[in-house]
Amino acid sequence: MARRKKIYEGKAKTLYEGPEPGTIIQYFKDDATAFNAEKKAVIEGKGVLNNMLSEYFMTGLNTIGVPTHFIKRINMREQLIRAVEIIPLEVVVRNRAAGSLSKRLGLEEGMALPRPIIEFYYKDDALGDPLVTEEHVVAFNWASQQDIDDMIALALRVNDFLSGMFLGVGIRLADFKIEVGRVYDGDFQRLILADEISPDSCRLWDIETGRKLDKDVFRHDLGDLADAYTEVARRLGVMPRTNGRATGPKLVN
Ligand code: C5P
Repeated sequence: MARRKKIYEGKAKTLYEGPEPGTIIQYFKDDATAFNAEKKAVIEGKGVLNNMLSEYFMTGLNTIGVPTHFIKRINMREQLIRAVEIIPLEVVVRNRAAGSLSKRLGLEEGMALPRPIIEFYYKDDALGDPLVTEEHVVAFNWASQQDIDDMIALALRVNDFLSGMFLGVGIRLADFKIEVGRVYDGDFQRLILADEISPDSCRLWDIETGRKLDKDVFRHDLGDLADAYTEVARRLGVMPRTNGRATGPKLVN
C-alpha cells in the first residue's frame, strides 16, 4: 500500500491526505506538551482517548446543527475530517477564572465569571500564541468582522452544549479552546468547528471534589493524565471497558 502523504505534523496530532479531495485524516498522537512545548511527555493511550472523546463531542454538535469538520472515526487513533482553511486564531471561552486569565488579572482560580468570556489568541508558536483584540484580528486580516461575529456565536453554542453535557456527568467546564475553519460551498463560504475538543483543550473539574480531569494534571504534575481522561470518557459512556492502554492501540493503515 502506498505510503500516504503527511500534510502537517502538530504537537498532538498529525494530518494526512484523505482518500478523497477535500478530506483529511487526523491522527491523534500520545504526545503531551505544555507551556508552548517547554514540557513534553508521551502519555500512553492519550491519543486513543482524545480521538474517541473528540468524536463524541463533534458528533453531538453535528446533531444539534453546529457545523464541524468531523466526518467519521476510522480507527482507534484516526478520524476522517473535512479539509478547511484554518483561521489562525485560538478561540477561548471561559466560564470560570483559571489559567492565563487568573494570572493576567489576579483572579482566584474557580471564581465564577459574570458571563462567558471569549478571547482570541493569535496562533503563532514563536510568539507564544499572544492574546489579541478584535481590532488586531480585523486590521491584520486574520478574519473579518462578520467572521468574528460568527466565531463568537459558534463558540457560545459549543459552550452551552458542552457545559450541559458535562454537568450531566458531574463535571464543570471551566474553559476551553476551539479552532475554526473556513469551507467553501460553491460561491458561499462559512465557518465550521475544526481541530479537536478533548481534555487537552478544556479545563474540566469534578463538581463535588474539584478534582482536575484535564491537561492541567500534566501541566502541574497532579497525577496520571490518562487516568483523568479515562474518568471523563467513562462518565460520558465513551470507551467504558478500556482505558486505551489495555488493548494496546494499534495504527491500522
Ligand atoms: O492557558 P489558558 O488559561 O489561556 O487556557 C484557556 C483554555 O484554552 C484551557 O482550557 C486550555 O487547555 C486551552 N488552550 C489550548 N491550547 C492552547 C492554549 C490554551 O487548548 N494553546
